[in-house]
Amino acid sequence: MNLGTTGSSLPADPTLVAMPAIADPLGRPLHDLRISVTDRCNFRCTYCMPKEIFGPDFAFLPRSEVLTFEEIARVARVFVGLGVEKLRLTGGEPLVRRDLPVLVEMLAAIRRPDGAPLDLTLTTNGSALRHLAPALAEAGLQRVTVSLDSLDDAVFSAMNGVDFQVAKVLDGIAAAAEAGLGPIKINMVVRRGVNEASVLPMARWARDAGVILRFIEYMDVGHTNGWRMDDVVAADELVAMVDAELPLEEIPPLYRGEVATRYRYRDGDGELGLIASVTRPFCGDCTRARISADGHFYTCLFTAAGHDLRTILRDPAFEADDAAGDAALRDAVAAVWRVRDDRYSELRTEATSSRLPRIEMFAMGG
Ligand code: SAM
Repeated sequence: MNLGTTGSSLPADPTLVAMPAIADPLGRPLHDLRISVTDRCNFRCTYCMPKEIFGPDFAFLPRSEVLTFEEIARVARVFVGLGVEKLRLTGGEPLVRRDLPVLVEMLAAIRRPDGAPLDLTLTTNGSALRHLAPALAEAGLQRVTVSLDSLDDAVFSAMNGVDFQVAKVLDGIAAAAEAGLGPIKINMVVRRGVNEASVLPMARWARDAGVILRFIEYMDVGHTNGWRMDDVVAADELVAMVDAELPLEEIPPLYRGEVATRYRYRDGDGELGLIASVTRPFCGDCTRARISADGHFYTCLFTAAGHDLRTILRDPAFEADDAAGDAALRDAVAAVWRVRDDRYSELRTEATSSRLPRIEMFAMGG
């Protein structure tokens, strides 16, 4: 199967419904779109989909409710017309969605209104990368972020909930590197009393392997992980742990809204990131929208409600008129973004965390 490549010399997408880039009342533009391609996952991470709750009887979305590749690509085109420059595929576990390279090829063909290609990436647990990395790269995926919480099998197995071995994830990371899906980033969620001892070994390994490790503060997404502030290992503590052995210095973000605070090792080799949504909220610069696998549009990871785009996508009134359907989608998205005032992480307290309703991360797309 030749999935084709995506040269940057392609003309602007003629089907793109473009309008001036939009911003919310806090001046935040719409820059990034995270697309969940499935709510299913082959892992049961304790902090995301604990197996006691998401067991064999748990009802995931029926196939008919999940957006098709054509619907996802259409939504993506509309968001790009509103200013989105970066697409990230996620889930659930995106690699469990059948034929994912076909979707990647469709998304890689989309051009911004000025004709430039998109930044197209994917977050994965890495379990199927050995098998899929070459096809994803050939389809036009540019890079990947792989989640890995420890190099210690006992710790990692306990956290991923399915006894998945570290060596298989490392092999997936190697496959991604061989396929040219770099720079590779590694997400490590740090939970107090669970994998703090893995912080330094992960930093040493990532530096040697030439991948960018990003520590993620354990967040109160959803309601099933029993989050408590005491379980969070704060960004300052994480930096201090690494800095004591491998001196660090902060470096500027690459663009407005970049989620990770970036550090470089003072001896010049390698980079480290910190995603500190709990102790250093970055709502003021949040330029991210999310689309769940069932076509709901969310403006905050911690929100309780989404905006249904699937009904517009499947509205029989637009069956014979793509342009009218695209315009309806565009108007719906713009109307939501223009009044968006989310800043959950800036307002978070232990009390709000247990009281406010929220959607599980795997359901919305992480
Ligand atoms: N299955 C893919 C993966 O494992 O990367 C993509 C989806 S996962 C929900 C996306 C990211 O969210 C992962 O890096 C995961 O570690 C992180 N994550 C999930 N629950 C979290 C939580 N409660 N706090 C912080 N990060 C979390």
